[in-house]
Amino acid sequence: MKGLIIAIDGPSASGKSTTAKLVAERLGYTYLDTGAMYRALTWKALRQGVNGGNEDRLCQLASSLQLTLSFEDGRLRVFMDGEEVSREIRSPQVSQMVSIVSRHPRVRRIMVGRQRRIGEKGGVVVEGRDIGTVVFPQADLKIYLDADPQERARRRMKELRAKGINSPLDEQLSSLAARDRLDSQRRDSPLRKADDAILIDTTHLSIEEEVRAVLDLIKGRG
Ligand code: C5P
Repeated sequence: MKGLIIAIDGPSASGKSTTAKLVAERLGYTYLDTGAMYRALTWKALRQGVNGGNEDRLCQLASSLQLTLSFEDGRLRVFMDGEEVSREIRSPQVSQMVSIVSRHPRVRRIMVGRQRRIGEKGGVVVEGRDIGTVVFPQADLKIYLDADPQERARRRMKELRAKGINSPLDEQLSSLAARDRLDSQRRDSPLRKADDAILIDTTHLSIEEEVRAVLDLIKGRG
């Protein structure tokens, strides 16, 4: 049987990545983190001194980018032009610039083409901001994860602390709010729940409860 296409969208720190990874692992599906793709492009732009407003140069970078995403033992590894950049793409500089890079329509078209080529055969859990609305509007199941902003900021702070980075809660709150604003107000493919997506509020859910909720929905569609 052809594997399903599962689309998971939502704002930063809504639980998307953790849930999508675990669901993919339990189903034996490919996990596709489209945010990591925009982050890798942003890292390349930063390294080459390309301005976030220069759509032409960003398109050139997006077309020539050699990107490999590998998912082993629950960990996503990202290689750009043969070099591992898994850590670099999570840096604060990249987080600050990524929403500026990803708002350009022509850049998005190139990235969406790549995402479709990876996922179109099915057997994939794809997470991002526009998966259910633009990348795979025909997905077999669309989920939109959301959580209270305070809770999302707390989660992000914990994640960073685990990596040895201390960042106060109010700083996280304002950085998430700024990214949400840019992502949901851009003209091309803004962050929004697809009409046929199922909303799951993860504020009071444990990771296991989130995963269970998604797996139960998949069982209903399979
Ligand atoms: O999911 P993550 O926080 O890593 O995504 C980083 C950024 O990449 C988002 O804030 C958004 O600007 C961009 N993005 C996007 N479309 C996607 C996935 C991510 O515009 N499908």
